[in-house]
Amino acid sequence: MQKHIDSYDFKGKKAIVRVDFNVPLDGDFNITDDTRIRAAMPTLKKILGDGGALIIMSHLGRPKGVDAKFSLKHILAHVSKCLGVDVKFAADCQKADAEAASLRMGEALLLENLRFYAEEEGKPRGLAEDASDEEKKAAKAAVKESQKGFVKKLASYADCYVNDAFGTAHRAHASTALIASYFPEDKMFGYLMEGEIKAIDNVLKNAAHPFTAIIGGSKVSSKLAVLENMLEKVDNLIIGGGMGYTFVKAQGGKIGNSLHEDELIPEALEILKKAKEKGVKIFISKDTVVADSFSNDAASKTVPSFEIPDGWEGMDAGEQSLAAWKEVILGSRTILWNGPVGVFEMPSFAKGTLRIAELLAEATDKGAYTLVGGGDSVAAVTRMGFAKKVSYVSTGGGAMLEALEGKELPGIAAVRE
Ligand code: AMP
Repeated sequence: MQKHIDSYDFKGKKAIVRVDFNVPLDGDFNITDDTRIRAAMPTLKKILGDGGALIIMSHLGRPKGVDAKFSLKHILAHVSKCLGVDVKFAADCQKADAEAASLRMGEALLLENLRFYAEEEGKPRGLAEDASDEEKKAAKAAVKESQKGFVKKLASYADCYVNDAFGTAHRAHASTALIASYFPEDKMFGYLMEGEIKAIDNVLKNAAHPFTAIIGGSKVSSKLAVLENMLEKVDNLIIGGGMGYTFVKAQGGKIGNSLHEDELIPEALEILKKAKEKGVKIFISKDTVVADSFSNDAASKTVPSFEIPDGWEGMDAGEQSLAAWKEVILGSRTILWNGPVGVFEMPSFAKGTLRIAELLAEATDKGAYTLVGGGDSVAAVTRMGFAKKVSYVSTGGGAMLEALEGKELPGIAAVRE
């Protein structure tokens, strides 16, 4: 049965904690953004504070085997600094018996990158490109078989299991999903994970209405499942960014050189039809800031979104669109934002996305629940300084996207089961 971190007493217990320390490193292995490390600190500190011991496990990057470039040793000093204790290091996550056994309460041990082993992901490695289906099947079966021993070994180090790695919660990996079954009475989420789950529930299960989703970004194809799930939940759906032009074209609009996916026009039309049947109001941009090339210094002007001239491409939402969206956003009690409404990386075309961030802050101030999650909208609110002005900013891109698609995440299911 699932336990709760706040009511669990870690005193005298060794806790194996899955965190997401997959942080970006520069060429000299300096951490360039330690958000993920800091995000796990409340959980790690609670365990030490209770009088427990920590065995911390994570992946870093996408190694294809043991590879010093992806060693968690690079982040050891920083983790020690954040945690305030000298964290020990186990150079092989499968041979840490002695280090785990000698760990005293109040101490912490960081295991080397889990993905040095294929068993973590449960996917075979090193298969020849021309491998037959039979060979692929056999290799998969072999890694699944050896995965059992891999998980058992990790579990043997500890008395309880805490999953605080929301960023990998959508992966059914050894350390995120399989290990939980070894701790039927001693498994739980960490604080970060609890916060993310609550945020998801606040929009998918307990949303106050009117509920508005703002879905932007580049491609309809990567957000189709989110759009479909949102139709079941929301009152208003704002479709912005590059993906909006597929919807404009589907309705007979002229989109010039704007980003679009012709093969998704039937799906776009189906979404519009379903929205009508369900009484969901769809808001597509009325006007668009267009440019004569995909560059910050391009010539630009604002035109109606259905009449983009040849040679021009949509880069940002225009003033009329933003005025219409403002009314919807400020009239909502729950707002979900996923994906920028323009090419926000270019300052000339970041205005629309900045305005959405400002409107979300204003709505939050007035009492709405606002969640920013999945994809580049998180980078946008963080970079624009709005992260603290909305109700919640998710730390997991892919995991949040899958949650918004309505999928049950394996890392969450394994603890709840
Ligand atoms: P996503 O990862 O799907 O949320 O997409 C984010 C990307 O969409 C960002 O890199 C934006 O620059 C891009 N994007 C937003 N609006 C447009 C647009 N009108 N044309 C091209 N790319 C866009």
